[in-house]
Amino acid sequence: MQKVLGLIGGMSWESSAHYYRMINEQVRDALGGMHSARLLLWSFDFADIEAMQRAGDWTAATQAMVEVARRLEGAGATAVVICTNTMHRMAEEVQAAIDVPLLHIADPVGEAIRALGLTRVGLLGTAFTMEQDFYRVRLAQRYGLEVLIPEADDRAQVHRIIYEELVQGQVLDASREVYRAVMQRLVDNGAQAVILGCTEIMLLVGDDDATVPLFDTAALHAHAAAQHLLSPR
Ligand code: GLU
Repeated sequence: MQKVLGLIGGMSWESSAHYYRMINEQVRDALGGMHSARLLLWSFDFADIEAMQRAGDWTAATQAMVEVARRLEGAGATAVVICTNTMHRMAEEVQAAIDVPLLHIADPVGEAIRALGLTRVGLLGTAFTMEQDFYRVRLAQRYGLEVLIPEADDRAQVHRIIYEELVQGQVLDASREVYRAVMQRLVDNGAQAVILGCTEIMLLVGDDDATVPLFDTAALHAHAAAQHLLSPR
């Protein structure tokens, strides 16, 4: 019997839907037939979460994540997954509040990059993920990676496109061109690969849009989640 995964999603549902599909596909591929993933999904109203982020009210945002992680554990989850990079800002507090593992999104990303022998990577994501410490420091300390972020103007564009377009389901060619140019500037500055460090970016760009390998955090995280479900109880 599979374990049970608790997904904290809705941030945005555009990417949570991809997690749901990817995890189910991997469980079906592994177990065959009519098998599908044993999942619990809490889906936030992202407008509530975005308002806390914009206000810098990380205390309330942390409380919201902790409360839901506890609910999922109480409902039987054997591990919890936060389906966004940004809301790993409070990963330590969430892990401390539950007795089951929180599968951190940066870990499969760091492992995949290290497996290719790469050491210097560009990071795209929300301004919170690019500019604050929680994500870059984990990649540096645990995986020995040097993480490059775009210049300020580029960061602002990357952030704006996530919130004004991608989390609202808009995928625009003009924005794809912006991302392609930002990624190329990271490569010109020495990036050997680029982390798509926001779970919606894969809606906009793929491997053909860059001259270096891209690491899709949503896909890597969903894979780690499926591995948990399939591991022995
Ligand atoms: N899904 C995005 C991420 O991976 C942004 C949405 C959010 O702020 O949680 O960071």
